[in-house]
Amino acid sequence: MKQSSLRFMFFALLAAAALCTATVQSVALLRPAHDKTLVPARAATASFIQFDDPYSDFRSARYSNAGLLSEGDESKLGMQLHREVTKKFNLTNVGLDRVERVGQRCAKASLRPNMLYKFHVVQSREINGFSLPGGHVYITTALLRLANDNELASVLAHEIGHIVARHSLKTLQKSQEYDEIAKSIGELTGVAGSAARDIGVALGQMLGSQLLTSHSRDEEREADFLGVRGMARAGFDPQGMITMFQKLQRIEEQDSSLLGTLFSDHPDAGERIENTRYEIARMRRR
Ligand SMILES: [Zn+2]
Repeated sequence: MKQSSLRFMFFALLAAAALCTATVQSVALLRPAHDKTLVPARAATASFIQFDDPYSDFRSARYSNAGLLSEGDESKLGMQLHREVTKKFNLTNVGLDRVERVGQRCAKASLRPNMLYKFHVVQSREINGFSLPGGHVYITTALLRLANDNELASVLAHEIGHIVARHSLKTLQKSQEYDEIAKSIGELTGVAGSAARDIGVALGQMLGSQLLTSHSRDEEREADFLGVRGMARAGFDPQGMITMFQKLQRIEEQDSSLLGTLFSDHPDAGERIENTRYEIARMRRR
């Protein structure tokens, strides 16, 4: 069933539930005060709202490195991965000040404010962005040209969301190479030794296969949720997330080859716009 018809059904059910509550309330006026007739009707309304919430799985999530690489090892892994990124991509200082300014604001307002975040600009005609463990966030020059500050904040806060939720670390842990990489990272003391060179080969292959930068749809939803909340806390207009998705939607229709992997395996833009609207409305109610 399409999202729009689901949404219609939700509102129809909500309206019906509201009507029931109103009817029960007017009947209740004629009843003694201790009558409990209202309780089930209210509970039913609450469960409809719960059902429609696209982010219900993430609201009470708590994030830490427990059971994953320690934060120190995560930073070392990030440093090694970044070295491999510099070999594969052309990094530039063009627009870096702007990314740094917007990105650090979002990072401080995130649920992981004590991580040392590093922002990087990649020279590319692809509209793309990705993040790696240890606080590294990458944005392409094409995306920078496309986005105003609120829109840029939405992308950066989304990427920071992946780092907050340790998505890449969780993916790494499920990989066959995990034990070996965890052991080598633990033994690393600097960036120049032979251990670093060995691990560099393994990590370079991981980057090439995009294992650490591809995420499941649920992880994307979680990063959207953390992103829209984070950018709003940082003082950016969360509507920027919607207009960013709309711009991406138009580009996808015109020339989808311009969209990098960041957007190709995400939930479709229509759904992300709906979910973001839902969350903005919810933030305004509180
Ligand atoms: Zn993502």
